[in-house]
Amino acid sequence: MPPKASFTREDGLYHSFCGLVSVGWLYQKIKDSFFLILGTHTCAHLLQNTLGVMIFARPRFAVSLLEEGDLSSAQPHIADQIEEIKREHRPSVIFLLSSCTPEVMKVEFEGLAHSVSTPEVPVLFVPASGLDYTFAQSEDSVLQALLPFCPVAPPDDRRVVFLGSVNDAIADDFALEAARLGIPVAGFLPANHFHELPPIGPGTVIAPLQPFLPRVANQIVNERECTLLSSLFPFGPDGCRAFWEDLAAEFGLQVDLSEREARAWERIKHHTDLLRGKKVFFAADTLLELPLARFLRAAGAEVLECSTPYINRRFHSRELQALEGVRLVEQANFERQLRSIAEERPDLVISNIITANPLIGRGVVAKWGTEFIFSPIHGWAGVNTLASLCTRALRRHAQLDPLGLDPVWTAGVMPSLPGEVIPLTRS
Ligand code: SF4
Repeated sequence: MPPKASFTREDGLYHSFCGLVSVGWLYQKIKDSFFLILGTHTCAHLLQNTLGVMIFARPRFAVSLLEEGDLSSAQPHIADQIEEIKREHRPSVIFLLSSCTPEVMKVEFEGLAHSVSTPEVPVLFVPASGLDYTFAQSEDSVLQALLPFCPVAPPDDRRVVFLGSVNDAIADDFALEAARLGIPVAGFLPANHFHELPPIGPGTVIAPLQPFLPRVANQIVNERECTLLSSLFPFGPDGCRAFWEDLAAEFGLQVDLSEREARAWERIKHHTDLLRGKKVFFAADTLLELPLARFLRAAGAEVLECSTPYINRRFHSRELQALEGVRLVEQANFERQLRSIAEERPDLVISNIITANPLIGRGVVAKWGTEFIFSPIHGWAGVNTLASLCTRALRRHAQLDPLGLDPVWTAGVMPSLPGEVIPLTRS
């Protein structure tokens, strides 16, 4: 048995974006769904600003606004809104998401969802407020709500179910690669449509695509007695090779993807040339940090620290092994991180949305970690996107600073794109 990987837990906050943001990719993935958030004006502003919604776009999500009068009623009334949603959007499933204020008010969401749910259009409660969850974890809650609707597969149905939301092009790439290797596929959780959820039973192999789904993975294994693939997550050439070789082995297939991995590294050589020897510091909150750090180390970078809000020893065991020797921190203390960054002077900091621009304002080359969540970086098809995201801030900095001078920005920075600033003055 490999030795337990060690990491430190500090006393920092999650510093996380709100869990409601996952609606942005989940409503697009589950094409016949509707997401109703019981929230406040703050939640509505967050969704409108982060997801760029125009009022005439008729998106399949909405915020049921809590007003002062609702504070005195025992339960908010959402039956009329549910009927309107069914009439206007004809969804197959409605997700009812909590938010901070009703959770503080102790709204009984399970009962509320049950009271408006029907066999034809189930209404499923999803805890997803900014109080408890890092934003990526709310996908875990959505998948837990969907699990009871996955048909039970018979024990002799030996197929793989890919776990985690990826866009259609990446999903096609996984299905094609599985077919190429002779691995039978039962489907994806989540599927594109509510009635296409994959059958899961004792013969199923669950292959997690996202590192932020440990709770639903655990629940599936407990409830359906299936096998959970333990491997690297399919990010980068090294991760993809391990993922597919380990998955094939679950089906009794021995495959050697060393040449495939070498070709993938060769294709991103212009990126790895830039990454080699660079000191990288992770201070982000997406829960993608462990596999990203492992990829960057394999690409030749020196990972000074990999901080992430939450580490699950079992679910992340292979990534932890691959990161042996790297300083791993859970719930990092931001003050301490600032001191470490000042002392160790990383070439690149992968940070969260709150701290990226202030760090850049201090002269640090920083990359907004959230961009990785919204980008197609999985599998062989995602390798180039992943590598170019990792080097974008370095390339931008090199262009701004062609002589390689120490970046000491003295006054104002003007935020533009996430993780990017336009310097106004410099000394
Ligand atoms: S759920 Fe909480 S953290 Fe998220 S937008 Fe609403 S008030 Fe803010």
